[in-house]
Amino acid sequence: MTDVRTKRESPRVDHRPAADGRTDARAQRKEPTGGRGHNASFLQDVNLMFDRAAATLSLPPGLADQIKLTNAVYQVRFPVKFRDGYRVFTGWRATHSEHRLPAKGGIRYAPIVDQDEVEALAALMTFKCALVDVPFGGSKGGLCIDPRQYDEEDMERITRRFAAELIAKGFLSPALNVPAPDMGTGAREMAWIADTYKDQRPGDIDALACVTGKPLTQGGVAGRVEATGRGVQYALREIFRHREDVKAAGLDGSLEGKRVIIQGLGNVGYHAAKFLSEEDGVLIVGIIEYDGAIMSDQGLPVEQVAAHRREHGGVKGFPGATYVDDGHRVLEAECDILIPAALEGQITAENAGRIHAPLIAEAANGPITTAADEILRAAGKVMIPDVYLNAGGVVVSYFEWIKNISHIRFGRLARRFDEARNEQAIEIIEQMLGKPVPATLQDKFIRGGEEIDLIRSGLDDTMRLAYQQIRDVMHARKEITDLRTAAFVVAIEKVAQTYMEMGT
Ligand code: NAD
Repeated sequence: MTDVRTKRESPRVDHRPAADGRTDARAQRKEPTGGRGHNASFLQDVNLMFDRAAATLSLPPGLADQIKLTNAVYQVRFPVKFRDGYRVFTGWRATHSEHRLPAKGGIRYAPIVDQDEVEALAALMTFKCALVDVPFGGSKGGLCIDPRQYDEEDMERITRRFAAELIAKGFLSPALNVPAPDMGTGAREMAWIADTYKDQRPGDIDALACVTGKPLTQGGVAGRVEATGRGVQYALREIFRHREDVKAAGLDGSLEGKRVIIQGLGNVGYHAAKFLSEEDGVLIVGIIEYDGAIMSDQGLPVEQVAAHRREHGGVKGFPGATYVDDGHRVLEAECDILIPAALEGQITAENAGRIHAPLIAEAANGPITTAADEILRAAGKVMIPDVYLNAGGVVVSYFEWIKNISHIRFGRLARRFDEARNEQAIEIIEQMLGKPVPATLQDKFIRGGEEIDLIRSGLDDTMRLAYQQIRDVMHARKEITDLRTAAFVVAIEKVAQTYMEMGT
């Protein structure tokens, strides 16, 4: 799900560079806490996190640089003709690593996108894929645009033009570079991108695999839209299976009844909040959005808040909740788990000292700066790093890509066969017991796995295994005391091993 899009009356975003070299949209960026709180950019922050982890490893000279640095960045400016004239858009696609191909990573549409951000996100993709054993390199794309300023027809033309530019330069293809949705994009944009690729490469039998996150009817896979939020749920469930890890965060018991504040009710935030509250008994006591925050000790009904937001364009005015105009301050409110699920740079050196939540789950990419990370660690907070927590999207994207290149829906061959075997097993059990198995139990037992069941099972397995690898490293190596460093160590070791085995 992406933002509610309003029909454009007149385009308001100016893409000309400002006097200081930033795009106008960047210059207008609303820095909630005065930027990242220290002078490091998002990319520098990711590199600092990399350095911290790499310092604990004995890599051959030069290999850390090879793994850390971005392989290639393509910047493109392209014009699109509107009724009132031409407008020039700026976009990027960064390929951070090609130790495995294709390189994988979303395309973000936002007025604040720039090259630094795209490179930082591409690097995170490399480590994310390695961590969850998705055999892809890391990439990311961005287009400097406010999608809410354009109607659907305009967005289609802009997206197709951007895709054509990426295809022409080898930054979009099933074998080399495969985008997916990110902030501001969704299944709709992915369908346009796939169709553009099919038009340009009609002989490519794997054309649909050029992008993931497509609608189900256009080669998508069941469960992709919910995947990142679902992954957040599975990750939190796994962490709460390890009592000592929960204790380290000053919490105890299960997820049930835990008070959660979530920032961002977009694709990731909405699904995470929905699943955690509806299936795990978590209380969503605060939701922070663009236009402020709403709070309720009794727990907010996520589905109703999402409907209110669709209708009114924000959370303000949601009945039965306390509205806070300065939503950003609600990050600091009392709760058990804080889930930033909107965008990067939200917890900085400026506000880190006021964060109350003992457990912070980074559903967004880069919501905590390295300076804030240090402050929070010193205060004993536990952070579940983005590189692990929001990997659900790329895991299910990997399943979609496999589906596309194998040209068959998951479960198509085995489902009925499994059901027939299960019916036979029921018959044997009934013969041995001398009485029938109750119909409700039969139904549960016999049903073969549909695509969505298999996808969720694969995602759950992946999130569990990755967390176990992270905690194993943290517990085995004394010098590593936080989950972020441990996650980077696991990822860097895997990437390094690939390079060393390739001999390059
Ligand atoms: P989205 O565009 O669907 O949702 C973002 C939400 O955050 C929107 O509801 C928006 O209104 C809100 N928001 C934006 N700025 C805000 C602010 N300053 N304060 C409060 N709310 C704000 O995007 P998404 O796909 O949900 O992505 C969110 C984050 O998760 C991003 O960091 C993205 O990189 C990361 N992520 C997304 C996916 C995915 O599959 N979509 C996968 C991995 C990571």
